Amino acid sequence: MDLGIRGKRALVCASSKGLGLGCAEALAEAGVDLVMNARGAEALEAEAARLRAEYGVDVQTVACDVTSPEGQGQVIDAAQGVDILVTNAGGPPPGLWSDWDRDDFVKALDANMLTPIALMKALLPGMMDKGWGRVVNITSQSVRAPIPALGLSNAARTGLTGYVAGTARQVAPQGVTINNLLPGIHATDRAVSLDTGVSTQKGISLDEARAQREATIPVRRYGTRQEFGAACAFLCSQHAGFIVGQNILLDGGGTNLTM
Ligand code: NAP
Repeated sequence: MDLGIRGKRALVCASSKGLGLGCAEALAEAGVDLVMNARGAEALEAEAARLRAEYGVDVQTVACDVTSPEGQGQVIDAAQGVDILVTNAGGPPPGLWSDWDRDDFVKALDANMLTPIALMKALLPGMMDKGWGRVVNITSQSVRAPIPALGLSNAARTGLTGYVAGTARQVAPQGVTINNLLPGIHATDRAVSLDTGVSTQKGISLDEARAQREATIPVRRYGTRQEFGAACAFLCSQHAGFIVGQNILLDGGGTNLTM
């Protein structure tokens, strides 16, 4: 399917690895020029070079922490005039409700709620002026079904979800859509680090830890960054103009819900 977005330009945050990279690559495959971001310059430059070579698109890189005010400024400067924004950053650490104090919440809210809001606030006006734009926020399945140990993430991401629900309806008349993609378990570095924790805690091998988690997912495997990226690219396509303010679960059926 031709996604109809060849020649458009996208900012994809936190995109040197994992789900962000999946989104950047799927957009590059659709002919979209990119601004890619991550803190570590080495992996970022390597992936940017690969996408330029494989898809012939223009790729700019901004190596910085997108959750810091300075980083946001750098990314926003580089991304002026983009047609597509994909927000993403690392998730907050797990813990128990009684572990966290105000500073922990401020950090989590900054990273996973206020950063995507700041990026939208800066880049939506350009899209609205052109009468076309797409925003996809990478959130989590925990927005639909909270994960008890991820209280910081649950709090920040549901806050973003509430903001998007209203804002998506306010910008839709100008041809701009905002939607959220909710990953379930995907085979990224984050999944490996979670499985490593379980294997140490239970005294089992990494393979066993992964097999146990895969058994909890109806499709019996983890999602891939390519599948995730394809869904993102579709939401950014010409065909998705009637999809507004949605929270779309990509979880292999893992979240037990009727709606
Ligand atoms: P990942 O494989 O660890 O990749 C994270 C990417 O983000 C890397 O490119 C990393 O590069 C970059 N990054 C992290 N923090 C950043 C920051 N502050 N500024 C700029 N770049 C940053 O993670 P992932 O699995 O793709 O997860 C992406 C998001 O989805 C996270 O918020 C995660 O909590 C959420 N999620 C993931 C899953 C899953 O199963 N994978 C499930 C639910 C939710 P640098 O380290 O070099 O900055």
